[in-house]
Amino acid sequence: TETNQQWQARREAAITRGVGNALPVYVEKARNAELWDVEGRRYIDFAAGIAVLNTGHNHPRVIQAVQAQLEKFTHPCFQVTPYGCYVELAEKLNHLVPIQQPTQTLLMSTGAEAVENAIKVARIATGRSAVIAFRGGFHGRTLLGMALTGKVQPYKKGYGPFPGGIFHAPYPAGYLGISDTQAIAALRGIFAADVAPDEVAAIIIEPVQGEGGFYVASASFLTQLRALCDEHGIVLIVDEIQSGFCRTGKTFAIEHSGVEPDMVTMAKSLAGGFPLSALVGKTSLMEKAQPGGLGGTYAGSPIAIAAALAVVDLIEGEQLNQKAQAQGEWVLHHLKLLAHEFDCIGEIRGLGAMIAMELVQQGDSQRPDKELTQALVQEAGRQGLILLACGVRGNVIRFLIPLTADKEVVSEGLNILSSSLRVV
Ligand code: PLP
Repeated sequence: TETNQQWQARREAAITRGVGNALPVYVEKARNAELWDVEGRRYIDFAAGIAVLNTGHNHPRVIQAVQAQLEKFTHPCFQVTPYGCYVELAEKLNHLVPIQQPTQTLLMSTGAEAVENAIKVARIATGRSAVIAFRGGFHGRTLLGMALTGKVQPYKKGYGPFPGGIFHAPYPAGYLGISDTQAIAALRGIFAADVAPDEVAAIIIEPVQGEGGFYVASASFLTQLRALCDEHGIVLIVDEIQSGFCRTGKTFAIEHSGVEPDMVTMAKSLAGGFPLSALVGKTSLMEKAQPGGLGGTYAGSPIAIAAALAVVDLIEGEQLNQKAQAQGEWVLHHLKLLAHEFDCIGEIRGLGAMIAMELVQQGDSQRPDKELTQALVQEAGRQGLILLACGVRGNVIRFLIPLTADKEVVSEGLNILSSSLRVV
């Protein structure tokens, strides 16, 4: 059998380096919040497949559901000979989103596709084309996804030109020193200078920016954004691909604000480790698409749907929102203790169990330390903890621990974090 190093050497020749990988840890087996590499070493997983495993690796109910589906059929293709489980999941998702009925669903495979289709539906429903997204935001690596994405490196540089008609507004977040009022004023500024509001089909926003660094939009800002969209007939899309499925202590992060969006995109933890995404929106918008205009060969794979149906049951079955709340408090408490001990820990922020900490140069909370962040990820990996960085300035460690993780395992991970901080 190959070692991590041997796989890494083969990978470097065989796979484009365009696909980054932070750690040379080749996985052999994974359960809940733990994984084991090909050399038998154990790790605690604080990355959870980038927010995919709110129910942990290989949740027994998810695996059972998938195995049962494998026995029945794998791919008749919904567009050729449809199947009931697609309808069943759509009905459940329609009632899960914080949007007044009636709503309709489209299933795809990846987050980027859910986003692309949200824009397509907003365009066909409004007859307008422009879209406003936010600086620091991330919406995927397809051409339209990149165009919407605010963060330039490594996602956009050299890959243009991008589809036109996309404008970026400042996200109301600390790192730019932008208040809610200033962010709304900036949107009005875009209407005055760049694009008339009646040409704007949609505004897309992450209620908590994920890749951008775990900034939380306030309820006040989101309420004003809703009012602005209503004033101009603009479709409000919330991208809950990273923040959704109980990560923040509510099924969708937008619920903390009480704001009702027109559409929600979701993926990642929707199907507990299987590739599935969804766009759920008001029927008045979703029904405007012409037959054949949406979908794809693998869109709504029955295998992934079986997993998602299990995950939807687990929201209650595992009390995921309560667990997110409790885990979030516990992790936040520990990070604050660590911040007393280590000067390099800057701002700690987040919502529920979607928590992040900045790493800054000693004694200067304003100077981000990207190198230290990368060193910490490597050192933690050596000590048996999988960490994930993010942030526009690359100096944020984000915690996306499976919500089903045992408290002892979380504590063990936090102890490794502490001992890794001591080394770097
Ligand atoms: N939108 C958000 C908020 C995300 O966090 C991501 C992935 O990280 C995407 C879209 C793109 O999803 P995918 O990588 O499945 O295409």
